Amino acid sequence: MQKYINIIGLEIHIEPNTKSKMFCSCPQDHFGAKPNTQTCPICLGLPGALPYANKEAIKKTIKLGLALGSKISEKSKFYRKHYFYPDLPKGYQISQKDNPFCVGGSLMSKKINHIHLEEDAGKLIHSGDESLIDFNRSGCALIEIVTEPVFNNVSEVLSFVKELQLIARYLDISNADMEKGTMRLEANISLKALLGGGRMDSREVGNLPDYKVELKNINSFKFLEKALKAEIERQTKALDNSEKLKQETRGYDEKTKTTFSQRTKTDSDDYRYFPEPDISPINSTEYIVHSTKIPELPQAKRDRFMDMYKLPKDYVEILISDLERANYFEQAVKLAPDLTKSIADLMINKNMDNEYPEPAGFVKKIVELTKIEYASTSDLEQAIKDVLFENPNIVDSYINGKGQVIGFLIGQVQKVLQGKGDPKMINVKLIESLQKNI
Ligand SMILES: [Zn+2]
Repeated sequence: MQKYINIIGLEIHIEPNTKSKMFCSCPQDHFGAKPNTQTCPICLGLPGALPYANKEAIKKTIKLGLALGSKISEKSKFYRKHYFYPDLPKGYQISQKDNPFCVGGSLMSKKINHIHLEEDAGKLIHSGDESLIDFNRSGCALIEIVTEPVFNNVSEVLSFVKELQLIARYLDISNADMEKGTMRLEANISLKALLGGGRMDSREVGNLPDYKVELKNINSFKFLEKALKAEIERQTKALDNSEKLKQETRGYDEKTKTTFSQRTKTDSDDYRYFPEPDISPINSTEYIVHSTKIPELPQAKRDRFMDMYKLPKDYVEILISDLERANYFEQAVKLAPDLTKSIADLMINKNMDNEYPEPAGFVKKIVELTKIEYASTSDLEQAIKDVLFENPNIVDSYINGKGQVIGFLIGQVQKVLQGKGDPKMINVKLIESLQKNI
């Protein structure tokens, strides 16, 4: 019986695909760039440098908020969040606190607390005894999605982050690529004891445990799954032994398959937030106008594909998981609606779309393939003859008005032709032959 309920919240960072960083004109895309080649006095935090907010990044943040049903703050502000770390030369990060761009919203019925925009820190690279710093990432725009602690199991968490990744791609906000670090995850987790029978004490509903453990530096979905499972196991054991769990940050060790303590929080962190004096409050309403064109989102596309194309669920999932491929599929189907199933088959099982940049070429090829595959008319006629000869009772049933037996006969003909008969042709020829018997 379940003794505890997991209470999990997420913080998801997404680097938007803007041209430039959050507060300067250095390139936002830093993947694979030579260290410290994409910096300027603003993103290095040199004294006297003045930041100016990237409108494109604000637009993308608001677009995401609108897609997730958040309320857009009319006046939004940037704050300085102070802390000391070598990858943050200014000694503060420009982030948001009160009035973030987007408040509330939800995805897959999971409540979102808010979405804010901030700048990224540099990257520390540890090699041997030395630590090196690459400032290419310093000052890059970073969208943070903070959920409420509303997840109770690991699979819910995984579905949510994958769907969010897909939405970021559909909205052209970011490629949200975990490997390239354009999507990064943090989870906080605590366990709460249940009463007998797996019920929650009604007085306790809504009361969160007095600790939470933050899991940081999660760089893949697989890693997230393993880290959460390991942490749930650790906390379960501790609670079983009546140990008191503490507020801390933990990492996950792939080798030992356990989490380890990185930092214990003694008091709540004091970041001494204060409004960023160099950037005036931002009127979000003008951005809403620019961002309201929300395209069809993954769930809507999923539903529509199921409904329109009558494909198996796993086919639909594969097709919609890549917007470009989903569009390609639809263009191909428009050209040859009869071949919907073959188009999907050849895309999913053979990746044949990769060989044809244009759907038209792909469809032409399928038509050729389908023709070659079909048995010749004479073979087909011979097969029909044989089947009718071998099934006199069925032929009688047909003559006596049992039209539905045709399905059985078509199946038998296909069997003789080893599935290579053109279904339409079999139907026509079969009826022709049967009519002769009446
Ligand atoms: Zn810069």
